[in-house]
Amino acid sequence: MVFSSKLGGCICGQIRYELTANPITCYACHCTQCQTISGSGFSLSVIAELEAIIIDAGEVAESTFLINSNDRTRHYCSNCGTLVWFSAPTYPGIVAIKAGTFDDSSWIKPIAHLWVSSKMHWVQLDNDTQKYQGQPAMADLVTLWQEQGDP
Ligand SMILES: [Zn+2]
Ligand SMILES: [Zn+2]
Repeated sequence: MVFSSKLGGCICGQIRYELTANPITCYACHCTQCQTISGSGFSLSVIAELEAIIIDAGEVAESTFLINSNDRTRHYCSNCGTLVWFSAPTYPGIVAIKAGTFDDSSWIKPIAHLWVSSKMHWVQLDNDTQKYQGQPAMADLVTLWQEQGDP
C-alpha cells in the first residue's frame, strides 16, 4: 500500500502542510493538560516523523514551555494561532500533529484513548477502542496502529 499525502493547515490559510508518510500512531488523550492546551475535552494527535512533513506555505512559529518540568514546544501559525503540531525533546524528530488541522480527517481514527481517568464525564467512548487510565508505553500505541493496517 502506498500512503497518499494528506494535506492540512491552519484556520487562516497561511500555513499549509503535507504529511507524506504513514504516521507512527494516532490517539486521543484526555489528560487535563491536553484539555487546557486544546481548550476542549481531549486532544487528537497524529504522531508522525517531522521529516515526513513538507511545509508548502507559511511559517510555523514555535513556543517552548514547561509542563511538569518537561519541555514542550508548541508549533503554531503566528497569524491565527492555530496549533498545528507539538514536539518534545524526549521524542526527537517526532511531532504530534493536531488531527483537526487536516483538510480531510476521515482517514483518522484513534487506536486508543489515554488518561480516561480524567476524561470529561459526558464523553462516551466506543467499546472497540483500547483505553488506558494513564500513560501507556509509546511502543504499545505504535503496535496498535500497525495492527489496523494502512489508512
Ligand atoms: Zn493561520
Ligand atoms: Zn494529554
